[in-house]
Amino acid sequence: MWRATVLSLFPELFPGPLDASVLGRARAEGAWALNTVRIRDFSDNPYGSVDDTPAGGGAGMVMRADILAKALDSVPREGRPVVYLSPRGTPLTQPRVRALAAGPGLVALCGRFEGVDERLIEARGIEEISIGDFVLAGGEIAAMALIEACVRLLPGVLGSASSLREESFEAGLLEYPQYTRPRVFEGREIPGVLMSGDHAKIAAWRREKAEETTRARRPDLWKRYCENGPIRRGENKDADP
Ligand code: SAH
Repeated sequence: MWRATVLSLFPELFPGPLDASVLGRARAEGAWALNTVRIRDFSDNPYGSVDDTPAGGGAGMVMRADILAKALDSVPREGRPVVYLSPRGTPLTQPRVRALAAGPGLVALCGRFEGVDERLIEARGIEEISIGDFVLAGGEIAAMALIEACVRLLPGVLGSASSLREESFEAGLLEYPQYTRPRVFEGREIPGVLMSGDHAKIAAWRREKAEETTRARRPDLWKRYCENGPIRRGENKDADP
């Protein structure tokens, strides 16, 4: 069973949104599991503090390597990678999500304050992952995003495998625009080709729209797409963006 273990100062935030809808149902049915570790339980002082002032000076507090190591070492790894959610990490991509979803799960470390002592990351061989070029107040929402992205790919969690295949990023492109009833909304009609029943024409139109959108919004993805062609599933698993 795919298993996530989350180390946090605020474990009560979990499962939170991860228990809604199909993910929550899948967890209840045993398709995946979630454990939390309260980092404060590993504090060495009566105040339960886990942080101290930064060496070299400066603002804020840094989470201590020794306390985090005790918390982390209490978790059975079971072959799972340890991920520290961090704005300094490698930006998360769908290929990395796919690789993590295909493995036994992950152990996620959520930072607070100014982050964690660098020596913990080195000493435990921790992978640093960022969910985007912006700064959150803590790693919990980032860990939820990572776990949700993985769990929805687990076999049987979402209904249809083909809906996963056609999504944004799966072919190296953003997805084509979607429409549903009503046929006319505030004077705007669903594009005629989608009502034509001609599946080849529909597929060509969708590909064209996907390319157009990617070119306009994501020059980085577009460049890679032009150089490498469409990514097929199972290939380029660890390709960087
Ligand atoms: N001083 C740090 C930011 C600390 S933010 C820096 O400038 O790099 C506090 C915590 O929030 C971090 O330890 C991390 O766990 C989490 N966090 C903030 N932004 C994040 C992001 N973009 N992706 C993943 N985790 C993030």
